Amino acid sequence: MHDLLQLEQILPVGMREEGKWILILAENTAPPPERCKKCGHAPLYKHGKRRYTYADTPIHGKPVKVEIETRRYRCKACGTVVTLSSPSLDDKRVATRRLVQYVQDRCFETTFTWISKEVGLALNTVKGITQDYAAHLEEGVELETPRLLGMDELHILDKPRYVLVNLEMRSLFEMLAFRTGAHLTDYFRKLKDRDRIEWVVTDLWKPYEVVIGQQLPDARIVIDRFHVLKAVSSRLDELRKYLRVGLSAEDRVRLKKYLRWPLLRGEYNRTEKDIENIEYIRKHHIELYLALTLNEAFFSIYDAPNRAAGEKAFQDWKDSIPKDFRKYYRPVTDMVDRHHRDIFNFFECPITNGYTEAMNGVIRAMNRLARGSSFEILRARSLYYRIMRESGTVVTHTGDTKDISQPVSTMGGRIEKSYGTPISVLEAMAEREETRRKGPNLHRRMQILGPRRDGEAGTARSA
Ligand SMILES: [Zn+2]
Repeated sequence: MHDLLQLEQILPVGMREEGKWILILAENTAPPPERCKKCGHAPLYKHGKRRYTYADTPIHGKPVKVEIETRRYRCKACGTVVTLSSPSLDDKRVATRRLVQYVQDRCFETTFTWISKEVGLALNTVKGITQDYAAHLEEGVELETPRLLGMDELHILDKPRYVLVNLEMRSLFEMLAFRTGAHLTDYFRKLKDRDRIEWVVTDLWKPYEVVIGQQLPDARIVIDRFHVLKAVSSRLDELRKYLRVGLSAEDRVRLKKYLRWPLLRGEYNRTEKDIENIEYIRKHHIELYLALTLNEAFFSIYDAPNRAAGEKAFQDWKDSIPKDFRKYYRPVTDMVDRHHRDIFNFFECPITNGYTEAMNGVIRAMNRLARGSSFEILRARSLYYRIMRESGTVVTHTGDTKDISQPVSTMGGRIEKSYGTPISVLEAMAEREETRRKGPNLHRRMQILGPRRDGEAGTARSA
């Protein structure tokens, strides 16, 4: 029979179809072991034959099982039974090595369910192969510690997680499964070259000061602008909810709608409709109109040309709050006073606008890629996919941010240094995933309808 298997020391002797399977019968032709591996005794005696079934790569789109008749040997001295194996077989997975490779090549690109169906391995085996592979990739990769580090919360797979981004290179640097001070402390303690970090742009998360202060004492902190502005917007919401008490149901809905878009779009991007709506608010709810104006005024603090001007603008703004409104804005004024240094560091940080944009890119991509996945797999997929695809190249630091997507030299080895997966690559992965899930027709329809708008509300003001 023609050697259709091409597996070392495995000789095919027959083949038949069995339902959805192709079953190949084979013999293990490996030479008998010379001596006992356990005690060294020789010779070993024949101890019958057994059939073992290994999964193999699909043929004609059908999953393949190889049933291998395998001779066994027994040591008379210690009783150990030795079963012949083959370098082509992965005994742990009960699969051929090439099938394990086949799964590795696909595991970050398609779903486990799909692979499991295609190759006939149990779902858990496919997950197991992927997990081992992810661990293997992680061992061989050393990401360059960023100079400008962005940190933000990301709620995926039912838990708040923590995302670390290289803001200079616009790449995903790390994903932490839990968002606690202890986790972050532990992470930074072990981080190589942590003194490389010059700036940390963060959301307003309580333990940030302590964790960064202790673990990255030389880094400077900026509270991201978007998170500050969100706190200000929430004041307007409070006021709106408070005023709602005396409103008709119709007016409540109207106010909510009328306030939302002008705020998100900001003073300079308003549509004619926004302006009309604001006029309505001015006529009928003067308090809300005043609050809207106060919010706008706060937003423009960020337009100040430098730190001193920004600090002055804030003081002026604070003084301009009407007495009756002070209690509504107390959380904002308290927040700015408490984090004064870090909020106004904005004016000195080399990355001021890129943070929200980068984070929104990551969040959009993660929300799509996370579906049906586990956190560990999602993390491996997001961090190592590109590295896996490009193994064989070495990326070295050139100091020029534009060079990051260009491998500098090919050394025929694994990637030794990388800045993490570019956010654009993550977004492209997520886009492909979406297309596959929904099918090409629906995807085309969605393109006609326009791009998805997840997270857009978050970018409108601060992008
Ligand atoms: Zn022995």
